[in-house]
Amino acid sequence: MDLLNTLVDKGLRRELPTREEALAVLATPDDDLLDVVAAAGKVRRHWFGRRVKLNYLVNLKSGLCPEDCSYCSQRLGSKAEILKYTWLKPDEASKAAAAGLAGGAKRVCLVASGRGPTDRDVDRVSETIKAIKDQNEGVEVCACLGLLSDGQAERLREAGADAYNHNLNTSEATYGDITTTHTYADRVDTVAKAHAAGLSPCSGLIAGMGESDEDLVDVVFSLRELDPDSVPVNFLIPFEGTPLAKEWNLTPQRCLRILAMVRFVCPDVEVRIAGGREVHLRTMQPLALHLANSIFLGDYLTSEGQAGRADLEMIADAGFEVEGPDQVTLPEHRAAGGCHEGGVCGAGADSAPSANEPRTDLVAVRRRGAGTDLAPNA
Ligand code: SF4
Repeated sequence: MDLLNTLVDKGLRRELPTREEALAVLATPDDDLLDVVAAAGKVRRHWFGRRVKLNYLVNLKSGLCPEDCSYCSQRLGSKAEILKYTWLKPDEASKAAAAGLAGGAKRVCLVASGRGPTDRDVDRVSETIKAIKDQNEGVEVCACLGLLSDGQAERLREAGADAYNHNLNTSEATYGDITTTHTYADRVDTVAKAHAAGLSPCSGLIAGMGESDEDLVDVVFSLRELDPDSVPVNFLIPFEGTPLAKEWNLTPQRCLRILAMVRFVCPDVEVRIAGGREVHLRTMQPLALHLANSIFLGDYLTSEGQAGRADLEMIADAGFEVEGPDQVTLPEHRAAGGCHEGGVCGAGADSAPSANEPRTDLVAVRRRGAGTDLAPNA
């Protein structure tokens, strides 16, 4: 297909596709899906080989958020029966992180619910970062604490944070439909603050919230302009008790097309399959490794993932390898910080469920790991 040859050529040159080309990827028929995966897979292998980076989430503070992000089980007014707890102590967080690292993770993502941290919260998280770094040589730490005020990104960097995550989530045009308590511009501002402070910027999206193909292309093009080093792609987990509980819009094929589009638009960044991997890609997860070069190991913030061991087996069976601590994730031009070119660069036992049927049976609220007395999944 001419389209795919063009996109591969552009991806190898880090050249931005046109919006029409990105939209065409999302519109490809299922009959052409393997061709799309193979083409985007060439771009993935060019920049990242067969390596898969494992990341491990530690939810430092769960639930009780005053913000109203409609996709989130921790939001104001959420009826989702998730774990709710306040700040983990540094040694508790470090213990949770150590389990993920022992399972093969290379980066620990420290996440806290809330609009953004107070200065006291930054102190707490700084102590946690130090505890994790002291006890685990070479670990990468990413903080995800919401909107940052002036000076907070610098303080996190000084405390040893390597990266900061703050997702754009959806297009600017539809942002007001999913959240009213802060704006798209607030989010862009925080990513810019993290970047300016020398933290590796991580910013991504959530697919499956009822958005159009145009919205998805808009947010991915905006991400390319922001120039993050990593782009997490979440597939909405429609939690019971949240406004988006009925938004079961994704099929495994749709998820693969979205990941392929992200890879073509952001060819040389760490594309991470984030929340919703097991729920929406299901048995197609191994194909998605040809598109993304990074996943979360184990559980998510408020829901359970598949067993860490199953992740490792899937990676090996699909012919990929877990990225080791001595391997550099990003291509040389990015790792060196030299080229941030922005815009340039439930069915019955006898019947199989159909691909677009709601799969509430696959959503399990997290009841183990951080904030509980039970062992984490890693
Ligand atoms: S996404 Fe973050 S800010 Fe929004 S409701 Fe959830 S925890 Fe709060």
